[in-house]
Amino acid sequence: MKILRATHLGWCSGVRNAVALVANEARRGRVAVLGELVHNETVNAALRAAGVQLTGNLDALNADTVIVTPHGLSDTKLARVRERVPRVLDATCPLVRRAHRAMRELVAAGFHPVVIGQRGHVEVRGLTEDLAEFDVVLTKEDVRLLPPRWRYGVIAQTTQPVERVQQLLDAIRRRFAESEVRFVDTVCRPTKLRRAAAIALAQHCDAVVVIGGARSNNTRELATTCARCCRRVFRVESAGELNASWFDDAETIGITAGTSTPDEVIEAVEQWLWTLAEVKHEIHQAA
Ligand code: SF4
Repeated sequence: MKILRATHLGWCSGVRNAVALVANEARRGRVAVLGELVHNETVNAALRAAGVQLTGNLDALNADTVIVTPHGLSDTKLARVRERVPRVLDATCPLVRRAHRAMRELVAAGFHPVVIGQRGHVEVRGLTEDLAEFDVVLTKEDVRLLPPRWRYGVIAQTTQPVERVQQLLDAIRRRFAESEVRFVDTVCRPTKLRRAAAIALAQHCDAVVVIGGARSNNTRELATTCARCCRRVFRVESAGELNASWFDDAETIGITAGTSTPDEVIEAVEQWLWTLAEVKHEIHQAA
């Protein structure tokens, strides 16, 4: 049995820096994170165990320092946080900040803002909460329901698949052929690299394990991407969820992981698979 890792997988720099910041601050005093630091329960459970408060409820904040997650925050919400806790540290990923900047510039130039992404996702809320009007699209039906405008300024949630972004952008351009549509590509490079590496991996595997939290958008997208090239794709949050029967007759097993999946969880899954490979080898030798 062969076990292959995707060439790009796991924590991105935005997540790595944010986790380090929170861990460092937690050693100095009472720290709260505004919502889930990352969409990964292993990481969040470890932070809670270190005394970090994770809450999206501003009234429940009970800390000397509040940390904004890599997903970012609207200025409106940031001001409300500062009213309650003056010391706010911003762990917004620079690539999410870039998306905020692109959105502000498009609006200032007179474009109607459209985000290709998940309505209600914390990053998309942060991008849109300060705007008087905006639209969020994730499907062609959403594009069909867009109000007519002369100028559209389109950006994407940083973790959206580039193919979907391109399809929806084309759909907007086709539907409003008379309008000016300006697009700024805000899908982050780590998302693009992990997606391309997942496709390259899945094409050569009998089964793929995608490691990451159920609420992690980019983990779910990685699993969907792998499923297009490989019939057996399993998303797990930890090694404890793996099942040996999934890998019956599998010669080559691939591993990939979302940007919120910590190294030690990836190592544990890989180790579990190597142990399975050894057991299978011994059974094969004995037969
Ligand atoms: S997924 Fe992309 S945008 Fe989000 S934290 Fe990582 S690098 Fe930043």
